[in-house]
Amino acid sequence: MLNRRHMLLSAGLAAIGLPLVLGRSKATAAETFAVTHTDAEWQKMLTSDQYAVLRQEGTERPFTSDLLHEARKGNFACAGCEQDAFASATKFDSGTGWPSFWAPLDAKVVGTTRDTQLGMVREAVHCGRCGGHLGHVFDDGPKPTGLRYCLNGVALKFHPASA
Ligand SMILES: [Zn+2]
Repeated sequence: MLNRRHMLLSAGLAAIGLPLVLGRSKATAAETFAVTHTDAEWQKMLTSDQYAVLRQEGTERPFTSDLLHEARKGNFACAGCEQDAFASATKFDSGTGWPSFWAPLDAKVVGTTRDTQLGMVREAVHCGRCGGHLGHVFDDGPKPTGLRYCLNGVALKFHPASA
């Protein structure tokens, strides 16, 4: 009887845990990344805000990023692994309060996975080198791509172009 109760309890917990586990492993199951760290290492390397976004797919509050109005020439890199991912030439003011771009530097620097959090189907964008969550991509962006990469500034680092 005890065993059976224990099994039912375990099964119940597993059922609750399952969507989260699947959600986290989806990107890594389909892709391998050049830069990998344990969760504990990431926590040490990143600030708590960076960790919440890059490793836990959090979203920063809009209009809080210093990079929102960064207008210099240069590249926006993943804050997790320093890989340049988006160029200033593709940055635009979307009015959303998050740094927005209409294209990544090239197709390899980012990957996307389907995100069904919050009852919406969205394409989540992650770094192609370390798997860090950067933001989402929508199809209501400007020409020439029509895409809007809506990114968390805290997940990015700006590398100014050398003059
Ligand atoms: Zn990265």
